[in-house]
Amino acid sequence: MTEVPRSHPRYESLKTRERLVEGVESGITSKAGLIAHGRGEAFDYLLGEKTIPAAERAERYALGVLKKAENPVISINGNVAALVPDEIVNLGEYLSAKLEVNLFHRTEERLKKIEEKLRENGAEDVLGLEADAEIPGLDHDRALCSKKGIYSADVVLVPLEDGDRTKALKEMGKTVVTIDLNPLSRTAKTADVTIVDNVTRAVPNMIDMEPLKEEFDNEKNLSEVLDYMGERLKGLTKNKITEEDMDGR
Ligand code: ATP
Ligand code: MG
Repeated sequence: MTEVPRSHPRYESLKTRERLVEGVESGITSKAGLIAHGRGEAFDYLLGEKTIPAAERAERYALGVLKKAENPVISINGNVAALVPDEIVNLGEYLSAKLEVNLFHRTEERLKKIEEKLRENGAEDVLGLEADAEIPGLDHDRALCSKKGIYSADVVLVPLEDGDRTKALKEMGKTVVTIDLNPLSRTAKTADVTIVDNVTRAVPNMIDMEPLKEEFDNEKNLSEVLDYMGERLKGLTKNKITEEDMDGR
């Protein structure tokens, strides 16, 4: 692949795409994962490709919830493994959370490749390869999980998750934290804590933050994100609000 020059205005975004393409080529990421990423990118554009204040608050609140959990589990799919393999292993260690590979398009080969990638990045224990439990209410493949991982977790961090699975996890009584750039997705609306930020920013952010002390209301936080996107768009079309103005929000 040709190198993206650092001076390119879309350097970060293009590097991220490269990492995903490499993920597909090495068998870690599914082709459908590329499409999911494209949807995420579109929403990231509306945020100005940065962590907005509402997202930062959600990250800090999520951190507190995960730190207080008894059996926290981080679910890892092919996009997460391609984009933030090192950072997600670090976050797992920091939170004393288990890592579980959980795929929408599950194949033995992809499970193994992701496990390998996480081990290369320092993970010691990776769950999910031997699925010995099922999430009730989902069809067979998508229900598979690990008994000592997701099945028995009290809090699960499910970045880039599908809406059906999020709903099924909620119905099991779990506290669900997600990272999803689309504030309108079913996952975003169903989770207890929704971080509307790119997984490439949210995961490293959470490692050196102070947990939020104030109250947190997920529905309100999502409305704030939508207001932010709306105002930013209005400002950009009418040239009324500058990027600097938005930074102060
Ligand atoms: P839902 O099933 O929750 O209604 P969906 O079907 O629209 O959502 P999925 O493909 O199931 O979408 O889930 C992928 C989600 O991950 C999308 O909402 C997309 O916006 C989000 N996403 C993709 N790439 C990233 C990323 N890099 N960081 C954060 N979120 C992302
Ligand atoms: Mg979906």
